[in-house]
Amino acid sequence: MGDDNMGFFDFEHGKLMLNVTNKCNFYCAMCVPVRDKGRSTLTKKEAFNVADFAIGKKFHFVEVSGGEPFLVDYTVDLIEKLCYGNITFVQLITNGALITNRDIDRLKGLPNLHVTFSLHGTGDTHDRITTKKGAFEKADHNLRQMADSGVNVALNTVIQKSNYHSIYDIYTYFSDIPYEWHGLTPVEMHLPLEQSEIQIPPESVDEVEKAIIQIRESAEAKGKVVYLPEKMPSYENSNLSLQSKGKKYLHPGFMCSVPRRLLIVYNSGHILPCYHYNWRKYETVLDFRRYDSVESMIMGDDYMNMILKGTGPLGCPGCDTLCYVWDDDFRRKITEPSFMDTTISSTSEYLREEMIKRDPSLLYEIDGIHNINKLKGNRPVYIWGAGRGGILTKRLLKELNIAVSGFIDSDPDKNGIVVSDLTVSSPDLLDKLFNRENSENSPYVVIGSMSAGEIKKLLREKGFKDYKDFQVNERII
Ligand code: SF4
Ligand code: SF4
Repeated sequence: MGDDNMGFFDFEHGKLMLNVTNKCNFYCAMCVPVRDKGRSTLTKKEAFNVADFAIGKKFHFVEVSGGEPFLVDYTVDLIEKLCYGNITFVQLITNGALITNRDIDRLKGLPNLHVTFSLHGTGDTHDRITTKKGAFEKADHNLRQMADSGVNVALNTVIQKSNYHSIYDIYTYFSDIPYEWHGLTPVEMHLPLEQSEIQIPPESVDEVEKAIIQIRESAEAKGKVVYLPEKMPSYENSNLSLQSKGKKYLHPGFMCSVPRRLLIVYNSGHILPCYHYNWRKYETVLDFRRYDSVESMIMGDDYMNMILKGTGPLGCPGCDTLCYVWDDDFRRKITEPSFMDTTISSTSEYLREEMIKRDPSLLYEIDGIHNINKLKGNRPVYIWGAGRGGILTKRLLKELNIAVSGFIDSDPDKNGIVVSDLTVSSPDLLDKLFNRENSENSPYVVIGSMSAGEIKKLLREKGFKDYKDFQVNERII
């Protein structure tokens, strides 16, 4: 334990993402953190403990975000601490509406600070998306004031149903500000139920692409830096299907470098080494409030052993490549896999198969969805969970050539609506279809929801048996 483990980590080329709170003064339809159940904020002591760790380990990049960080009374103190602690790049992400003149006075002149404003439109468009009248006026004012004070500012705009028709105007409106960059990115394609309210209508994708070309040309002419999608994703072809070719992922997962460089600190007090692998199954290792300090958690043997397991031959099967392009090793493994990478990856595949032959239950641990074709037989498949997890599960099943008959969801508001071309039914439907005498004539259920624990209990109460009649998509929880 202790600094002996430091050779294992490479934080100097790494990133620390610090989510101080999931509280927000707005409620944007496309926002995932504000939809979490429950609200929590790190205490000042906890956040400063994380900052001390980041400074001590010489992290190159630290991002402070929320929810809305300016709802937290210590945010400016925290930013000062990080900036004066020699972090090379301190990024603060805000919706901009709560910033005061005093905050700006304190932030101006801080070394290495970059403040990113989330602004999704001008005037009423932004107000509608954030669901707060007057949100735009305040954020626009504070953005301009901050830029005038010499703070490095940037903007991020999520292109979605409410603003796709005006993205060129949005870009133009802000283009007089000396920002570092303006990013205009399409809303994630796999966001949950409200998707019909926020997704860009498929028939309008061409219109958006034209506007993007217009923005790119104008930015080049004016010398503005803009981040734009190369191509608009389509619902059918978004990143999940890019991730896998059959069962092979673009990144092998095995010996992945990201968990040794990344720390994601959540407002709940949990720390995860990357976004995509199911680290939550090591729940007790991840809660830093159980340790004396962040240092003792991260540099302790449990955390290191968890990463060794997760990036070992039976660990992560690989993930989406796009989030981790900042990690040179990650990128190299994808773009120019060396002989060793290919060998390691195929060895890993071989080891998995060998281990599974010896203990078939390991497949459950490894693959997310367990041996589904054999287990379901000819039974109709239903997905329990009509939110983001359910939609992802449907797409994963599609890749396995498995048709889905419908969604099940306990939320009465979803009963009868159509999500991703399938009708959502209440759990009562399963009672009607389940045959206790012979479950082989009953539906097979795949749970695609973060509330898998509760759903499993309900299914067992209805007579469904683990694996035989239902299973959890482990990639979701
Ligand atoms: S302002 Fe940001 S954190 Fe707040 S609801 Fe909107 S997207 Fe979420
Ligand atoms: S989920 Fe991605 S980043 Fe995380 S360990 Fe697996 S391959 Fe690496």
